[in-house]
Amino acid sequence: MSFFSKTTIQDKWKEKYLNLLDEQDQSKDEYQEKEDLLCKTIVRLTIATSGLDPLLDPHLQSIREQLKAGINSTELNDKLEKITQSVAQIKHEPALKRTVSTGLLFDFLLQHYKSSKQQAALQQLHKKTSTSIPEIPPNELFIDILKAIEPDQDSSLTSNINSYIDVNIISQHLLSFLDEIEIPSIYHHQTKVAKQLLADSNQSSSSFEDILDKSFKLLLKIKQHNQSEQQDIDDFLSHITEQLAALDIKVLGASSSAQESAENRIRLDQSVSEQMEELQLSSSNATKLEPLKVIINNRLANLTKEIQQNNQNEAIHRQKLQQQLDDLIIKIKDMETESSDLKTKLKIANTQALRDTLTGLPNRNAYNERMEIELARWKRYQTPLSLIIWDIDHFKIINDSYGHKAGDKVLRLIANQLSDHSRVTDFISRFGGEEFTMLLPNTKGKEALLFANQLRQAIEKAGFNSSGTSVKITISCGVTEFLKSDTDESAFDRADKALYQAKEQGRNRCCAL
Ligand code: GH3
Ligand code: MG
Ligand code: MG
Repeated sequence: MSFFSKTTIQDKWKEKYLNLLDEQDQSKDEYQEKEDLLCKTIVRLTIATSGLDPLLDPHLQSIREQLKAGINSTELNDKLEKITQSVAQIKHEPALKRTVSTGLLFDFLLQHYKSSKQQAALQQLHKKTSTSIPEIPPNELFIDILKAIEPDQDSSLTSNINSYIDVNIISQHLLSFLDEIEIPSIYHHQTKVAKQLLADSNQSSSSFEDILDKSFKLLLKIKQHNQSEQQDIDDFLSHITEQLAALDIKVLGASSSAQESAENRIRLDQSVSEQMEELQLSSSNATKLEPLKVIINNRLANLTKEIQQNNQNEAIHRQKLQQQLDDLIIKIKDMETESSDLKTKLKIANTQALRDTLTGLPNRNAYNERMEIELARWKRYQTPLSLIIWDIDHFKIINDSYGHKAGDKVLRLIANQLSDHSRVTDFISRFGGEEFTMLLPNTKGKEALLFANQLRQAIEKAGFNSSGTSVKITISCGVTEFLKSDTDESAFDRADKALYQAKEQGRNRCCAL
Protein backbone atom coordinates (compact mmCIF):
# COMPACT_ATOMS: atom_id res chain seq x y z
CA MET A 1 0.00 0.00 0.00
CA SER A 2 1.34 3.47 -0.92
CA PHE A 3 1.71 6.33 1.56
CA PHE A 4 -0.86 8.32 -0.48
CA SER A 5 -3.59 5.67 -0.14
CA LYS A 6 -2.85 5.25 3.61
CA THR A 7 -3.37 9.03 4.14
CA THR A 8 -6.65 8.95 2.17
CA ILE A 9 -8.12 6.22 4.41
CA GLN A 10 -7.08 8.15 7.53
CA ASP A 11 -8.64 11.37 6.15
CA LYS A 12 -11.87 9.56 5.34
CA TRP A 13 -12.17 8.25 8.90
CA LYS A 14 -11.17 11.58 10.35
CA GLU A 15 -13.87 13.33 8.31
CA LYS A 16 -16.51 10.83 9.39
CA TYR A 17 -15.45 11.31 12.97
CA LEU A 18 -15.56 15.11 12.71
CA ASN A 19 -19.05 14.96 11.17
CA LEU A 20 -20.16 12.92 14.12
CA LEU A 21 -18.76 15.50 16.52
CA ASP A 22 -20.68 18.25 14.65
CA GLU A 23 -23.93 16.34 15.00
CA GLN A 24 -23.35 15.94 18.72
CA ASP A 25 -22.62 19.64 19.13
CA GLN A 26 -25.87 20.47 17.41
CA SER A 27 -27.89 18.20 19.68
CA LYS A 28 -26.15 19.78 22.69
CA ASP A 29 -27.25 23.25 21.48
CA GLU A 30 -30.83 22.05 21.13
CA TYR A 31 -30.74 20.68 24.65
CA GLN A 32 -29.34 23.97 25.96
CA GLU A 33 -32.15 25.90 24.23
CA LYS A 34 -34.80 23.71 25.86
CA GLU A 35 -33.14 23.98 29.24
CA ASP A 36 -33.32 27.80 28.92
CA LEU A 37 -37.02 27.53 28.08
CA LEU A 38 -37.58 25.41 31.19
CA CYS A 39 -35.74 27.96 33.38
CA LYS A 40 -37.85 30.82 32.03
CA THR A 41 -41.08 28.91 32.62
CA ILE A 42 -40.25 28.01 36.21
CA VAL A 43 -39.35 31.67 36.85
CA ARG A 44 -42.70 32.76 35.38
CA LEU A 45 -44.53 30.23 37.55
CA THR A 46 -42.82 31.44 40.70
CA ILE A 47 -43.87 34.99 39.78
CA ALA A 48 -47.45 33.87 39.13
CA THR A 49 -47.70 32.08 42.49
CA SER A 50 -45.87 34.68 44.56
CA GLY A 51 -47.98 36.62 47.07
CA LEU A 52 -50.20 33.61 47.81
CA ASP A 53 -48.66 33.06 51.18
CA PRO A 54 -45.80 34.76 53.08
CA LEU A 55 -44.37 31.29 53.92
CA LEU A 56 -43.84 30.47 50.24
CA ASP A 57 -42.61 33.83 48.98
CA PRO A 58 -38.97 33.66 50.18
CA HIS A 59 -38.55 30.20 48.56
CA LEU A 60 -40.12 31.32 45.28
CA GLN A 61 -37.85 34.38 45.24
CA SER A 62 -34.78 32.25 45.94
CA ILE A 63 -35.72 29.77 43.15
CA ARG A 64 -35.99 32.71 40.74
CA GLU A 65 -32.57 34.04 41.70
CA GLN A 66 -30.99 30.61 41.49
CA LEU A 67 -32.44 29.89 38.04
CA LYS A 68 -30.99 33.11 36.60
CA ALA A 69 -27.64 31.29 36.73
CA GLY A 70 -29.09 28.16 35.03
CA ILE A 71 -30.39 24.87 36.40
CA ASN A 72 -28.45 23.33 39.23
CA SER A 73 -30.46 20.19 39.90
CA THR A 74 -29.22 19.58 43.44
CA GLU A 75 -29.98 23.13 44.63
CA LEU A 76 -33.32 23.21 42.78
CA ASN A 77 -34.27 19.91 44.37
CA ASP A 78 -33.36 21.35 47.77
CA LYS A 79 -35.51 24.46 47.20
CA LEU A 80 -38.48 22.41 46.02
CA GLU A 81 -38.20 20.32 49.16
CA LYS A 82 -38.45 23.56 51.19
CA ILE A 83 -41.49 24.71 49.20
CA THR A 84 -43.17 21.35 49.86
CA GLN A 85 -42.50 21.79 53.58
CA SER A 86 -43.90 25.33 53.50
CA VAL A 87 -47.04 24.20 51.70
CA ALA A 88 -47.49 21.51 54.33
CA GLN A 89 -47.16 24.19 57.01
CA ILE A 90 -49.80 26.34 55.31
CA LYS A 91 -52.18 23.38 55.48
CA HIS A 92 -51.62 22.96 59.20
CA GLU A 93 -51.49 26.62 60.17
CA PRO A 94 -54.40 27.05 62.56
CA ALA A 95 -54.89 30.71 61.59
CA LEU A 96 -56.01 29.69 58.12
CA LYS A 97 -58.49 27.19 59.44
CA ARG A 98 -60.10 29.75 61.68
CA THR A 99 -63.39 31.06 60.63
CA VAL A 100 -63.78 34.45 59.09
CA SER A 101 -67.11 34.75 60.82
CA THR A 102 -65.72 34.07 64.33
CA GLY A 103 -62.97 36.61 63.64
CA LEU A 104 -65.54 39.17 62.58
CA LEU A 105 -67.69 38.37 65.63
CA PHE A 106 -64.78 39.12 67.95
CA ASP A 107 -63.80 42.25 65.98
CA PHE A 108 -67.36 43.44 66.43
CA LEU A 109 -67.48 42.59 70.15
CA LEU A 110 -64.08 44.18 70.83
CA GLN A 111 -65.29 47.37 69.19
CA HIS A 112 -68.47 47.49 71.27
CA TYR A 113 -67.35 46.37 74.74
CA LYS A 114 -64.46 48.56 75.62
CA SER A 115 -63.90 48.24 79.41
CA SER A 116 -60.50 46.74 80.22
CA LYS A 117 -62.17 43.74 81.90
CA GLN A 118 -64.36 43.05 78.86
CA GLN A 119 -61.47 43.53 76.42
CA ALA A 120 -59.20 41.14 78.37
CA ALA A 121 -61.93 38.51 78.73
CA LEU A 122 -62.93 38.77 75.03
CA GLN A 123 -59.35 38.52 73.85
CA GLN A 124 -58.78 35.45 76.02
CA LEU A 125 -61.97 33.83 74.73
CA HIS A 126 -61.06 34.66 71.12
CA LYS A 127 -57.73 32.91 71.63
CA LYS A 128 -59.48 29.90 73.16
CA THR A 129 -61.99 29.77 70.27
CA SER A 130 -59.30 29.89 67.61
CA THR A 131 -57.21 27.12 69.15
CA SER A 132 -59.72 24.72 70.68
CA ILE A 133 -60.19 21.36 68.97
CA PRO A 134 -62.94 20.27 68.65
CA GLU A 135 -64.55 23.69 68.24
CA ILE A 136 -66.67 25.15 71.00
CA PRO A 137 -70.38 24.47 70.24
CA PRO A 138 -72.32 27.66 69.37
CA ASN A 139 -74.44 27.65 72.53
CA GLU A 140 -71.42 27.31 74.80
CA LEU A 141 -69.55 29.97 72.85
CA PHE A 142 -72.48 32.31 73.27
CA ILE A 143 -72.62 31.75 77.06
CA ASP A 144 -68.85 32.38 77.23
CA ILE A 145 -69.26 35.61 75.25
CA LEU A 146 -71.97 36.75 77.66
CA LYS A 147 -69.72 36.01 80.63
CA ALA A 148 -66.95 37.98 78.95
CA ILE A 149 -69.05 41.07 78.24
CA GLU A 150 -70.86 40.95 81.60
CA PRO A 151 -68.12 39.65 83.89
CA ASP A 152 -69.92 40.70 87.07
CA GLN A 153 -73.05 38.60 86.52
CA ASP A 154 -73.33 35.44 88.63
CA SER A 155 -72.65 32.04 87.14
CA SER A 156 -76.29 30.91 87.13
CA LEU A 157 -76.43 32.81 83.82
CA THR A 158 -75.83 29.61 81.98
CA SER A 159 -79.11 28.01 82.98
CA ASN A 160 -81.67 30.06 81.07
CA ILE A 161 -80.73 32.68 78.54
CA ASN A 162 -84.08 34.46 78.33
CA SER A 163 -84.19 35.05 82.08
CA TYR A 164 -81.24 37.42 82.28
CA ILE A 165 -80.61 39.05 78.92
CA ASP A 166 -82.41 41.62 76.93
CA VAL A 167 -83.47 39.58 73.92
CA ASN A 168 -83.79 42.74 71.88
CA ILE A 169 -80.22 43.85 72.41
CA ILE A 170 -78.81 40.44 71.48
CA SER A 171 -81.05 40.24 68.40
CA GLN A 172 -79.96 43.72 67.31
CA HIS A 173 -76.28 42.83 67.74
CA LEU A 174 -76.67 39.62 65.81
CA LEU A 175 -78.62 41.43 63.08
CA SER A 176 -75.92 44.08 62.75
CA PHE A 177 -73.29 41.35 62.74
CA LEU A 178 -75.09 39.47 59.95
CA ASP A 179 -75.33 42.78 58.07
CA GLU A 180 -71.62 43.39 58.38
CA ILE A 181 -70.21 40.07 57.26
CA GLU A 182 -69.92 38.98 53.63
CA ILE A 183 -72.58 36.27 53.07
CA PRO A 184 -71.86 33.75 50.25
CA SER A 185 -74.79 33.88 47.80
CA ILE A 186 -75.92 30.29 48.58
CA TYR A 187 -76.68 31.40 52.17
CA HIS A 188 -78.63 34.55 51.25
CA HIS A 189 -81.98 32.88 51.74
CA GLN A 190 -81.07 31.26 55.09
CA THR A 191 -79.61 34.56 56.27
CA LYS A 192 -82.84 36.33 55.35
CA VAL A 193 -84.86 33.78 57.38
CA ALA A 194 -82.46 34.05 60.34
CA LYS A 195 -82.67 37.86 60.21
CA GLN A 196 -86.46 37.71 60.14
CA LEU A 197 -86.49 35.36 63.16
CA LEU A 198 -84.11 37.64 65.03
CA ALA A 199 -86.13 40.74 64.10
CA ASP A 200 -89.33 39.08 65.37
CA SER A 201 -87.66 37.34 68.33
CA ASN A 202 -90.04 39.03 70.79
CA GLN A 203 -93.21 37.72 69.24
CA SER A 204 -91.82 34.52 67.79
CA SER A 205 -93.29 31.18 68.78
CA SER A 206 -89.83 29.60 68.81
CA SER A 207 -87.76 30.00 71.96
CA PHE A 208 -84.97 32.53 71.83
CA GLU A 209 -82.44 29.71 72.45
CA ASP A 210 -83.70 28.02 69.24
CA ILE A 211 -83.37 31.26 67.25
CA LEU A 212 -79.86 31.77 68.62
CA ASP A 213 -78.98 28.18 67.86
CA LYS A 214 -80.19 28.58 64.27
CA SER A 215 -78.23 31.83 63.84
CA PHE A 216 -75.01 30.32 65.16
CA LYS A 217 -75.44 27.20 63.04
CA LEU A 218 -75.79 29.44 60.00
CA LEU A 219 -72.58 31.29 60.98
CA LEU A 220 -70.80 27.94 61.28
CA LYS A 221 -71.98 26.92 57.81
CA ILE A 222 -70.70 30.21 56.37
CA LYS A 223 -67.41 29.56 58.11
CA GLN A 224 -67.16 26.03 56.62
CA HIS A 225 -67.92 27.44 53.18
CA ASN A 226 -65.07 29.96 53.50
CA GLN A 227 -62.75 27.18 54.69
CA SER A 228 -63.53 25.03 51.67
CA GLU A 229 -62.58 27.92 49.34
CA GLN A 230 -59.28 28.19 51.17
CA GLN A 231 -58.88 24.42 50.81
CA ASP A 232 -59.22 24.72 47.00
CA ILE A 233 -56.31 27.13 46.87
CA ASP A 234 -54.23 24.92 49.22
CA ASP A 235 -54.90 21.89 47.01
CA PHE A 236 -53.84 23.77 43.92
CA LEU A 237 -50.61 24.87 45.60
CA SER A 238 -49.72 21.28 46.54
CA HIS A 239 -50.53 20.24 42.99
CA ILE A 240 -48.14 22.86 41.56
CA THR A 241 -45.49 21.74 44.05
CA GLU A 242 -45.87 18.11 42.97
CA GLN A 243 -45.57 19.14 39.35
CA LEU A 244 -42.44 21.14 40.08
CA ALA A 245 -41.00 18.09 41.84
CA ALA A 246 -41.84 15.91 38.81
CA LEU A 247 -40.16 18.49 36.53
CA ASP A 248 -37.10 18.42 38.72
CA ILE A 249 -36.78 14.63 38.33
CA LYS A 250 -37.01 14.99 34.55
CA VAL A 251 -34.38 17.73 34.49
CA LEU A 252 -32.08 15.50 36.51
CA GLY A 253 -32.64 12.70 33.97
CA ALA A 254 -32.01 14.98 31.00
CA SER A 255 -28.84 16.49 32.38
CA SER A 256 -27.36 13.13 33.41
CA SER A 257 -28.03 11.78 29.92
CA ALA A 258 -26.31 14.82 28.34
CA GLN A 259 -23.34 14.32 30.64
CA GLU A 260 -23.07 10.64 29.70
CA SER A 261 -23.04 11.49 26.01
CA ALA A 262 -20.30 14.11 26.51
CA GLU A 263 -18.19 11.54 28.38
CA ASN A 264 -18.65 8.98 25.58
CA ARG A 265 -17.53 11.56 23.06
CA ILE A 266 -14.31 12.30 24.99
CA ARG A 267 -13.61 8.56 25.33
CA LEU A 268 -14.09 8.00 21.59
CA ASP A 269 -11.93 11.02 20.80
CA GLN A 270 -9.09 9.65 22.93
CA SER A 271 -9.43 6.17 21.51
CA VAL A 272 -9.38 7.39 17.86
CA SER A 273 -6.32 9.59 18.50
CA GLU A 274 -4.47 6.74 20.23
CA GLN A 275 -5.21 4.28 17.44
CA MET A 276 -4.19 6.80 14.77
CA GLU A 277 -0.90 7.40 16.54
CA GLU A 278 -0.26 3.66 16.84
CA LEU A 279 -1.02 3.23 13.13
CA GLN A 280 1.46 5.91 12.20
CA LEU A 281 4.08 4.37 14.49
CA SER A 282 3.49 0.86 13.05
CA SER A 283 3.76 2.22 9.47
CA SER A 284 6.98 4.10 10.04
CA ASN A 285 8.57 1.14 11.89
CA ALA A 286 7.35 -1.51 9.43
CA THR A 287 9.93 -3.50 7.49
CA LYS A 288 7.56 -6.01 5.84
CA LEU A 289 4.34 -5.25 4.01
CA GLU A 290 2.20 -8.29 4.95
CA PRO A 291 2.40 -7.99 8.78
CA LEU A 292 1.81 -4.23 8.39
CA LYS A 293 -1.33 -4.94 6.33
CA VAL A 294 -2.61 -7.25 9.10
CA ILE A 295 -1.90 -4.68 11.78
CA ILE A 296 -3.60 -1.89 9.78
CA ASN A 297 -6.62 -4.04 8.97
CA ASN A 298 -7.05 -5.00 12.62
CA ARG A 299 -6.74 -1.41 13.76
CA LEU A 300 -9.21 -0.17 11.15
CA ALA A 301 -11.66 -2.96 12.04
CA ASN A 302 -11.39 -1.93 15.69
CA LEU A 303 -11.94 1.72 14.85
CA THR A 304 -14.96 0.94 12.68
CA LYS A 305 -16.45 -1.19 15.44
CA GLU A 306 -15.89 1.51 18.05
CA ILE A 307 -17.34 4.28 15.90
CA GLN A 308 -20.37 2.15 15.00
CA GLN A 309 -20.90 1.27 18.65
CA ASN A 310 -20.62 4.92 19.55
CA ASN A 311 -23.10 5.86 16.82
CA GLN A 312 -25.60 3.37 18.16
CA ASN A 313 -25.17 4.60 21.73
CA GLU A 314 -25.54 8.19 20.63
CA ALA A 315 -28.72 7.42 18.69
CA ILE A 316 -30.22 5.77 21.78
CA HIS A 317 -29.16 8.73 23.92
CA ARG A 318 -30.58 11.25 21.50
CA GLN A 319 -33.87 9.40 21.39
CA LYS A 320 -34.00 9.25 25.18
CA LEU A 321 -33.14 12.93 25.48
CA GLN A 322 -35.70 13.91 22.86
CA GLN A 323 -38.39 11.95 24.71
CA GLN A 324 -37.52 13.61 28.01
CA LEU A 325 -37.54 17.06 26.44
CA ASP A 326 -40.90 16.41 24.75
CA ASP A 327 -42.35 15.31 28.11
CA LEU A 328 -40.94 18.45 29.71
CA ILE A 329 -42.51 20.71 27.11
CA ILE A 330 -45.93 19.09 27.62
CA LYS A 331 -45.63 19.46 31.40
CA ILE A 332 -44.56 23.09 31.11
CA LYS A 333 -47.50 23.88 28.84
CA ASP A 334 -49.91 22.22 31.33
CA MET A 335 -48.44 24.22 34.18
CA GLU A 336 -48.67 27.45 32.23
CA THR A 337 -52.37 26.83 31.61
CA GLU A 338 -53.00 25.93 35.24
CA SER A 339 -51.14 28.93 36.59
CA SER A 340 -53.03 31.29 34.33
CA ASP A 341 -56.33 29.67 35.47
CA LEU A 342 -55.31 30.20 39.08
CA LYS A 343 -54.41 33.81 38.39
CA THR A 344 -57.87 34.44 36.92
CA LYS A 345 -59.52 32.65 39.86
CA LEU A 346 -57.55 34.68 42.39
CA LYS A 347 -58.34 37.93 40.58
CA ILE A 348 -62.08 37.19 40.70
CA ALA A 349 -61.92 36.11 44.37
CA ASN A 350 -60.02 39.28 45.24
CA THR A 351 -62.52 41.53 43.46
CA GLN A 352 -65.45 39.78 45.18
CA ALA A 353 -63.81 40.09 48.59
CA LEU A 354 -63.57 43.86 48.18
CA ARG A 355 -67.13 44.59 46.89
CA ASP A 356 -70.43 44.98 48.67
CA THR A 357 -72.90 42.77 46.84
CA LEU A 358 -76.02 44.87 47.53
CA THR A 359 -74.81 48.25 46.24
CA GLY A 360 -71.79 47.22 44.15
CA LEU A 361 -69.70 49.77 46.06
CA PRO A 362 -66.29 48.90 47.58
CA ASN A 363 -66.80 47.42 51.07
CA ARG A 364 -65.14 48.05 54.41
CA ASN A 365 -62.08 45.90 53.55
CA ALA A 366 -61.60 47.92 50.39
CA TYR A 367 -61.93 51.13 52.44
CA ASN A 368 -59.16 49.93 54.80
CA GLU A 369 -56.88 49.12 51.86
CA ARG A 370 -57.52 52.45 50.16
CA MET A 371 -57.10 54.37 53.41
CA GLU A 372 -53.56 52.98 53.70
CA ILE A 373 -52.72 54.15 50.18
CA GLU A 374 -54.27 57.62 50.61
CA LEU A 375 -52.55 58.09 53.98
CA ALA A 376 -49.16 57.24 52.46
CA ARG A 377 -49.82 59.66 49.59
CA TRP A 378 -51.01 62.38 51.97
CA LYS A 379 -47.88 62.00 54.14
CA ARG A 380 -45.59 62.04 51.12
CA TYR A 381 -47.05 64.91 49.09
CA GLN A 382 -48.65 66.81 52.02
CA THR A 383 -51.72 67.68 49.96
CA PRO A 384 -54.96 67.96 52.00
CA LEU A 385 -57.10 64.85 52.57
CA SER A 386 -60.68 64.84 53.92
CA LEU A 387 -62.95 62.10 55.23
CA ILE A 388 -66.77 62.06 55.29
CA ILE A 389 -68.91 59.51 57.16
CA TRP A 390 -72.53 59.35 55.95
CA ASP A 391 -75.45 57.75 57.81
CA ILE A 392 -79.04 57.56 56.55
CA ASP A 393 -81.51 59.24 58.92
CA HIS A 394 -84.11 57.07 60.64
CA PHE A 395 -83.41 54.21 58.29
CA LYS A 396 -84.99 51.75 60.70
CA ILE A 397 -88.30 53.57 60.17
CA ILE A 398 -87.99 53.09 56.38
CA ASN A 399 -87.44 49.36 56.92
CA ASP A 400 -90.29 49.14 59.43
CA SER A 401 -92.76 51.13 57.30
CA TYR A 402 -91.99 49.93 53.77
CA GLY A 403 -90.26 46.60 54.34
CA HIS A 404 -86.70 45.37 54.16
CA LYS A 405 -86.75 45.13 50.34
CA ALA A 406 -87.64 48.79 50.05
CA GLY A 407 -84.85 49.49 52.55
CA ASP A 408 -82.42 47.66 50.24
CA LYS A 409 -83.66 49.72 47.29
CA VAL A 410 -83.02 52.93 49.24
CA LEU A 411 -79.48 51.75 50.02
CA ARG A 412 -78.84 51.19 46.31
CA LEU A 413 -80.33 54.59 45.41
CA ILE A 414 -78.20 56.42 47.96
CA ALA A 415 -75.10 54.51 46.79
CA ASN A 416 -75.81 55.67 43.22
CA GLN A 417 -76.34 59.28 44.32
CA LEU A 418 -73.07 59.28 46.25
CA SER A 419 -71.20 57.81 43.24
CA ASP A 420 -72.86 60.09 40.67
CA HIS A 421 -71.94 63.26 42.54
CA SER A 422 -68.31 62.47 43.32
CA ARG A 423 -65.07 62.86 41.41
CA VAL A 424 -63.22 59.90 39.97
CA THR A 425 -60.49 60.39 42.55
CA ASP A 426 -62.94 60.29 45.49
CA PHE A 427 -63.25 56.89 47.11
CA ILE A 428 -66.71 55.82 48.32
CA SER A 429 -67.43 52.68 50.31
CA ARG A 430 -70.38 51.05 52.02
CA PHE A 431 -68.78 50.89 55.42
CA GLY A 432 -71.56 48.76 56.94
CA GLY A 433 -75.39 48.77 57.34
CA GLU A 434 -76.62 52.21 56.27
CA GLU A 435 -73.27 53.94 56.67
CA PHE A 436 -71.00 55.09 53.85
CA THR A 437 -67.55 56.67 53.87
CA MET A 438 -65.86 59.00 51.41
CA LEU A 439 -62.15 59.74 51.12
CA LEU A 440 -61.51 62.99 49.27
CA PRO A 441 -57.88 63.44 48.22
CA ASN A 442 -56.64 66.95 47.52
CA THR A 443 -59.65 68.43 49.36
CA LYS A 444 -59.63 70.74 52.38
CA GLY A 445 -62.17 70.30 55.20
CA LYS A 446 -64.07 73.46 54.17
CA GLU A 447 -64.43 72.31 50.56
CA ALA A 448 -65.45 68.85 51.73
CA LEU A 449 -68.19 70.34 53.94
CA LEU A 450 -69.49 72.47 51.04
CA PHE A 451 -69.54 69.44 48.75
CA ALA A 452 -71.22 67.30 51.45
CA ASN A 453 -74.02 69.83 51.91
CA GLN A 454 -74.71 69.95 48.15
CA LEU A 455 -74.84 66.17 48.04
CA ARG A 456 -77.10 66.01 51.11
CA GLN A 457 -79.55 68.45 49.46
CA ALA A 458 -79.54 66.48 46.21
CA ILE A 459 -80.47 63.30 48.11
CA GLU A 460 -83.21 65.11 50.03
CA LYS A 461 -84.66 66.38 46.75
CA ALA A 462 -84.49 63.01 44.99
CA GLY A 463 -86.43 61.01 47.64
CA PHE A 464 -87.67 57.59 46.60
CA ASN A 465 -90.82 55.97 45.37
CA SER A 466 -92.61 53.15 47.23
CA SER A 467 -95.62 51.69 45.38
CA GLY A 468 -96.47 55.06 43.86
CA THR A 469 -95.98 57.04 47.09
CA SER A 470 -93.08 59.47 47.15
CA VAL A 471 -91.01 59.13 50.32
CA LYS A 472 -88.47 61.68 51.55
CA ILE A 473 -85.08 60.39 52.60
CA THR A 474 -82.48 62.43 54.41
CA ILE A 475 -78.93 61.70 55.27
CA SER A 476 -76.43 63.21 57.72
CA CYS A 477 -72.67 63.27 57.75
CA GLY A 478 -69.55 64.11 59.73
CA VAL A 479 -66.67 65.77 57.89
CA THR A 480 -63.03 66.13 58.89
CA GLU A 481 -59.71 67.03 57.33
CA PHE A 482 -56.63 64.98 58.26
CA LEU A 483 -54.33 66.79 60.71
CA LYS A 484 -50.57 66.32 60.87
CA SER A 485 -50.77 64.27 64.07
CA ASP A 486 -53.62 62.04 62.76
CA THR A 487 -53.74 58.29 62.28
CA ASP A 488 -56.54 56.77 60.21
CA GLU A 489 -58.32 55.93 63.47
CA SER A 490 -58.06 59.38 65.07
CA ALA A 491 -59.40 61.06 61.91
CA PHE A 492 -62.21 58.48 61.70
CA ASP A 493 -63.16 59.08 65.36
CA ARG A 494 -63.33 62.84 64.74
CA ALA A 495 -65.57 62.42 61.66
CA ASP A 496 -67.75 60.00 63.68
CA LYS A 497 -68.09 62.61 66.47
CA ALA A 498 -69.09 65.20 63.86
CA LEU A 499 -71.72 62.75 62.53
CA TYR A 500 -73.03 62.29 66.07
CA GLN A 501 -73.37 66.08 66.39
CA ALA A 502 -75.30 66.21 63.10
CA LYS A 503 -77.73 63.58 64.46
CA GLU A 504 -78.01 65.39 67.79
CA GLN A 505 -78.77 68.69 66.09
CA GLY A 506 -81.78 67.21 64.31
CA ARG A 507 -80.41 65.17 61.36
CA ASN A 508 -80.47 66.08 57.63
CA ARG A 509 -77.28 68.06 58.17
CA CYS A 510 -73.51 67.95 57.81
CA CYS A 511 -71.17 68.88 60.66
CA ALA A 512 -67.42 69.34 60.51
CA LEU A 513 -64.82 68.93 63.26
P1 GH3 B 1 -80.31 57.32 62.86
O1 GH3 B 1 -80.96 58.47 62.20
O2 GH3 B 1 -79.95 57.63 64.28
O3 GH3 B 1 -79.11 56.85 62.10
O4 GH3 B 1 -81.35 56.15 62.92
P2 GH3 B 1 -81.39 54.82 62.09
O5 GH3 B 1 -82.73 54.20 62.23
O6 GH3 B 1 -80.94 55.08 60.71
O7 GH3 B 1 -80.25 53.99 62.80
P3 GH3 B 1 -80.25 52.58 63.44
O8 GH3 B 1 -78.80 52.28 63.65
O9 GH3 B 1 -81.13 52.51 64.64
O10 GH3 B 1 -80.83 51.60 62.36
C1 GH3 B 1 -80.16 51.25 61.21
C2 GH3 B 1 -80.98 50.21 60.50
O11 GH3 B 1 -80.42 49.89 59.24
C3 GH3 B 1 -81.08 48.91 61.26
C4 GH3 B 1 -80.78 47.84 60.26
O12 GH3 B 1 -81.72 46.80 60.29
C5 GH3 B 1 -80.86 48.58 58.93
N1 GH3 B 1 -80.01 47.97 57.95
C6 GH3 B 1 -78.69 47.74 58.02
N2 GH3 B 1 -78.26 47.13 56.90
C7 GH3 B 1 -79.34 46.97 56.09
C8 GH3 B 1 -79.53 46.39 54.78
O13 GH3 B 1 -78.60 45.89 54.13
N3 GH3 B 1 -80.77 46.43 54.27
C9 GH3 B 1 -81.81 46.98 54.96
N4 GH3 B 1 -83.01 46.99 54.39
N5 GH3 B 1 -81.67 47.49 56.19
C10 GH3 B 1 -80.45 47.50 56.75
MG1 MG C 1 -76.00 53.87 61.60
MG1 MG D 1 -78.96 55.79 60.40
